[in-house]
Amino acid sequence: MPAKTISDIVALCKRRGFIFTGSEIYGGLGGAYDYGPYGVELMRNIRDAWWNAMIYSRNDIEGLDAAQISNRLMWKYSGHEAGFSDPLVECKKCGARMRQDKMADPTKCDNCGSTDITEPRAYQLMMGLSIGAMADGAINAYLRPETATTTYVNFKNVLDARPHKLPFGIAQIGKAFRNEISPRGFVFRMREFEQAEMQYFVHPDTDEKYFEMWRAARMAWWTDVLGIPAEKLRFTPHDKLAHYAKAACDIEYEFPDGFDEVEGVHNRQDFDLGSHTKAQNEFKINAHVIENKDSTVKLSYSDPQTSENFIPYVIETAMGVNRAMLAVMHNAYTEEDLGDGKSRLVLKLRPKLAPVKAAVIPLARNVPELLDTAMNIENDLRRLAIGRIELENSGNIGKNYRRHDEIGTPVCITVDHQTLEDGTVTLRLRDTMEQRRVNIADVPAAVLEIING
Ligand code: ATP
Repeated sequence: MPAKTISDIVALCKRRGFIFTGSEIYGGLGGAYDYGPYGVELMRNIRDAWWNAMIYSRNDIEGLDAAQISNRLMWKYSGHEAGFSDPLVECKKCGARMRQDKMADPTKCDNCGSTDITEPRAYQLMMGLSIGAMADGAINAYLRPETATTTYVNFKNVLDARPHKLPFGIAQIGKAFRNEISPRGFVFRMREFEQAEMQYFVHPDTDEKYFEMWRAARMAWWTDVLGIPAEKLRFTPHDKLAHYAKAACDIEYEFPDGFDEVEGVHNRQDFDLGSHTKAQNEFKINAHVIENKDSTVKLSYSDPQTSENFIPYVIETAMGVNRAMLAVMHNAYTEEDLGDGKSRLVLKLRPKLAPVKAAVIPLARNVPELLDTAMNIENDLRRLAIGRIELENSGNIGKNYRRHDEIGTPVCITVDHQTLEDGTVTLRLRDTMEQRRVNIADVPAAVLEIING
């Protein structure tokens, strides 16, 4: 049985150390969460899986890690300063504040049902900063609300350092900050979150082909790499396109409350490079951009064969890493009936994503021979460099299995008295609970096989 509500996941995350409320001991802060020992591992594994698909498996995408604080002008020309706002309404009866575009019925308060609602007003989503020695409280910089713009402004830097022919891409994973009106859904909508975004620069004649290519590639990653069944995912085209977009669709995952966005794939035309380039009038820019008098660099591409110099189009894939983790945990969350009134909770994660790859468990606590043998096995497994290995020394085997089922450890290795006699240990598999004895010398190979599937 899967998790019925997000509260099931929230409880597991807190109990087992995946995610905690940010600044919890002071009452928390809406939309901010802290990732604990297993949360950081799962996030890393998702990031690595994405980086592997985007960078290491291809030869046409470069990596970037841009600053999170940035010059105000960047957000002026990207259009965020003037236009990055949500329509905010307030219920005059109960005081609830809501995003009008996300209300079940825009004429009725989501909280109390009252129809006495204010007119929508624009609400700036970017978090402004006042930085530097002369800072006087006035906003002179912003925390980035997305990674994408910080990629566009580095287009020329990357291309000069690593020359590529079109199409080529730049990928980035990093924090983004949005002053969301109503953070909700645990880590689904936060004020500080993480994005994994890739901008693919293409010739304007080829945009539709590459939009389709990336749509398919990204959906395949969700199913084949994260292991989410296809029926829990769907594409939803945007019904209202942003003024610069030629096409856009979301990849949605079926959360307990229904399908919701986890990633976007967008054809942004030449809006971004066209907005940030110097000498805009030298180019035929198709998207509507405001005049840029401040940029110091031409963000164009010169075709070495035809000598055509133009502003490339951008196909963007934009994923929320926290939402990916939430979807992965929700999909893996399984309550199993074991008969006789017993049940277990098990996180059936792909072994590559699991926060702990293997646990070594001596059957009894503080028995020197058992502990020494267990520590030797632990060291052998660490040398494989496959991720986190844990040694348990509590002597409560049932409790240890339960804990490792709940955090998704694919395999436990139990050292018992028979081990001291014949040099074998028990391998206990998470999903089937199958137990088999293997020689200590064969443990690393057996664990590798389980992790690599
Ligand atoms: P939404 O419509 O849900 O506000 P968006 O369309 O504004 O999202 P994008 O700007 O396309 O989102 O960002 C790309 C991805 O970043 C989204 O698909 C989502 O996974 C993630 N994301 C966006 N906002 C948040 C947030 N406040 N908290 C967590 N993840 C987010």
